[in-house]
Amino acid sequence: MTERWRTVAAATGLAAPDGTTRPTIFAEMSALAARTGAANLGQGFPDADGPEWIREAAVAAIRSGANQYPPGRGIPELRAAIARHQQRHYGLELDPDTEVLVTAGATEALATAVLALAGPGDEVVTLEPFFDSHAANIAMAGATHVTVPLVPGPDGFRVDLEALERAVSPRTRLILLNTPHNPTGAVLSADELAAIARAAVAADAIVLSDEVYEHLTFDGATHVPIATLPGMRERTLTVSSAGKTFSLTGWKIGWISGPAELIEAVLAIKQFTTFVGGAPFQPAVARALDEGDPDVAALRDDLDARRAFLVDGLRRVGFDAVVPSGTYFVCADATALLGSHADGAAFARALPEAAGVATVPLSAFCVPGSPTALALAPWLRFTFVKDRATLETAVERLVASSASR
Ligand SMILES: *Cc1c(COP(=O)(O)O)cnc(C)c1O
Repeated sequence: MTERWRTVAAATGLAAPDGTTRPTIFAEMSALAARTGAANLGQGFPDADGPEWIREAAVAAIRSGANQYPPGRGIPELRAAIARHQQRHYGLELDPDTEVLVTAGATEALATAVLALAGPGDEVVTLEPFFDSHAANIAMAGATHVTVPLVPGPDGFRVDLEALERAVSPRTRLILLNTPHNPTGAVLSADELAAIARAAVAADAIVLSDEVYEHLTFDGATHVPIATLPGMRERTLTVSSAGKTFSLTGWKIGWISGPAELIEAVLAIKQFTTFVGGAPFQPAVARALDEGDPDVAALRDDLDARRAFLVDGLRRVGFDAVVPSGTYFVCADATALLGSHADGAAFARALPEAAGVATVPLSAFCVPGSPTALALAPWLRFTFVKDRATLETAVERLVASSASR
């Protein structure tokens, strides 16, 4: 019997072929960026903290005694605020007492939901490329990971709908969705969501939808939770968190919502992972959800300008950049710039030294050696959730190094 951690390590690129463990490509690139003084457009966390009034609300909560275990499902004020948020933005009605669970970030919500609902013999379908924790969660559960390619084209990255038909079957227990999508920046269209919903109903599968970038969309793209589609509310668990929406990624306050019996199943696992967490952050996030819309709009506008700057800069250098409709990320085909480098991973490893810029290869978000990994081998992901000076430095350095080539 293989120890479960080895399966997880292999699924996430943490295991070297000789069976030893190694850092993820994200850690490797960040270490390389630190060593070479490169502008780090690899790891996607904001370099500016979220609104001061939300941070002060957490300070006030600590001062006023919110320092012991909160209730297992999260404080009532936060669960009520999450329910109001889903109602206000999407018209989804939730019972905050039975249909909402507060978690240690979206990460815990996703992990505990996969552990609760899938096991050996079950298939879990994701898009590919995918967020790395999704593959880890499927491996932790001992389930089988089946992927559906997102394919780059004139309209950005789009779901291969024929592959979706083939991938979803009665063996499918879960469809683990992510929209707006990390790493591609795709916001799933009405047609794509309808096709996924049809497939889920036909296979009697549950949809677990990672929507942490729900408010970070551009060019008029609208995020539609799949739970709002006909017949989907009863089979969908929706996940989000305060991290990306309010630039407070270190607080790790997330949530999952959906039918009471599915939330009950997730709670059975969550109870014995973290149990609870973030007592003083919970009231602050409750206020942020109720009163923070102007802050979120300001963040979105600011990110939109940074997105335009980075896409333009990458194109000037010769990257074939796809304009993202959401998230923190731009993906770009580096084929024209690879030179002697075999692929995007080799190029990304050389770039900090050669040009003073760090990034990550898209293959890091794929099943090693899969057709999608091969198709996206020359592609890189850059983040624009960095301050303007860092983005300007990165673009200047890329321009200078391409001119000297
Ligand atoms: C950042 C991120 C998460 C993790 O969210 P936390 O609230 O920090 O745990 C989950 N999914 C995606 C797609 C992300 O980009």
